[in-house]
Amino acid sequence: MNTLNTLSGCAAGYDPQALPVSAAQAIVLQWVTPLAASERVPLRDAVSRVLAADVISPIDVPAHDNSAMDGYAFDGAALDAALDTASGAALDAAPGGTLTLTVAGKAFAGHPYTGETGAGNCVRIMTGAPMPAGCDTVVPQEQTEITSEDTGERITFAAKALTHGANRRRRGEDLAKDTVALRAGRLLRASDIGLLASLGFADVAVKRRLRVAYFSTGDELRSPGEPLDAGCIYDSNRYTLGAMLKRLDVEAIDLGVVRDEAATLAGALVRAAQCADVVLTSGGVSVGEADFMRAQLQTLGDVTFWGLAMRPGRPLAFGRIWSGGKPGAGHPALLFGLPGNPVATMVAFYQIVRPALLAMAGAAPQPVPLIPARCDVAIRKRPGRTEFQRGLAMRDNTGQWRVTPTGSQSSGALSTMSEANCFIVLAHEASGLDVGDAVDIMLFDGLV
Ligand code: AMP
Ligand code: MG
Repeated sequence: MNTLNTLSGCAAGYDPQALPVSAAQAIVLQWVTPLAASERVPLRDAVSRVLAADVISPIDVPAHDNSAMDGYAFDGAALDAALDTASGAALDAAPGGTLTLTVAGKAFAGHPYTGETGAGNCVRIMTGAPMPAGCDTVVPQEQTEITSEDTGERITFAAKALTHGANRRRRGEDLAKDTVALRAGRLLRASDIGLLASLGFADVAVKRRLRVAYFSTGDELRSPGEPLDAGCIYDSNRYTLGAMLKRLDVEAIDLGVVRDEAATLAGALVRAAQCADVVLTSGGVSVGEADFMRAQLQTLGDVTFWGLAMRPGRPLAFGRIWSGGKPGAGHPALLFGLPGNPVATMVAFYQIVRPALLAMAGAAPQPVPLIPARCDVAIRKRPGRTEFQRGLAMRDNTGQWRVTPTGSQSSGALSTMSEANCFIVLAHEASGLDVGDAVDIMLFDGLV
């Protein structure tokens, strides 16, 4: 397949060496085929997995009307009567809307009250206990006064403090039987796991895990724990990539460090394609090295683009590698040749790779929210590329988000990435910011 034709077909007019970020994201998603295979896993292993099919609720949740409070359940019609002076006297209501009821029995969660509750009676009830027949309203215990008489325990409370039906949860109010509880493509979170449990499911069908193989390239790289020879650096990208992949709950396959040697690189790429759906590499795509990696990619597969109008992260190769070692042979794996500079690797992963991996894993789109903030310093930038600066954001006492870049924005300065809590997103067409200008930020951490 001539991929450059494909490229010009879907992003006509763009330079494959400097594609706008939004165009690159769109092209990548066009190349993604979501996984078809699924498996059933026990509920406790299902968090962060992708739901393979809609889950239909087999029951009403809650299964019966029940009390939202510890108190006394009664027929709420008595309230209307108590507040109606004409009929109030008939229901033991004193002037001023006070209601007095006799306690006829008890209902606990798991132990329903099965007796009768006639007019003038109530049932002592605990939170979650099924509403007794004939009762539809609960007066919280703290609103009542208890009196014990020969005729049994009685409670008195102000009728006007309650409405008919108060403090009762309705059967099916959370989820009605036969309705869709969770949709296919859902990236399962803690609440979803609880929801599935509340429906009685002990296991659930999820997409199989995406397999992602990754390796670093570079003669200068040494692995942590090894001695650092002159002119060498420690390989951090493989560890960053492994950590980022862990958060996505994919099956990550670490293929180590590959030397800058054509046959070794070709062998590693093919091995990676044989064992994975997606291959991530870092390094070997910058201006000085680009031809080296690109030449391999063109022999073993096809390259769709090899540069982004993005900073950091300009050099980025995207294409496919075939497991048989040449285009059309065996099966293809998507290939992201990420830049070697450590922050560029991370930015490229979050902006380009992450959405692709999620789509391929079968997940519905998971857009990261952008939050409007004020920038506390001026930032220089030229139009024509999207920049992701590392920032420290916090809300001031007026509730406004304010952000400041965290020192060096060099694409190698991982420490300023660790200090940051957000990306400052400088739009493609933007031409810099003055102090106090509005800018979007993308927070690193969410609650769940
Ligand atoms: P390259 O794209 O291979 O020219 O790499 C660009 C820069 O990133 C060079 O300074 C490399 O030493 C550095 N680099 C490449 N790979 C890694 C890695 N795995 N860990 C840390 N730095 C790296
Ligand atoms: Mg290199």
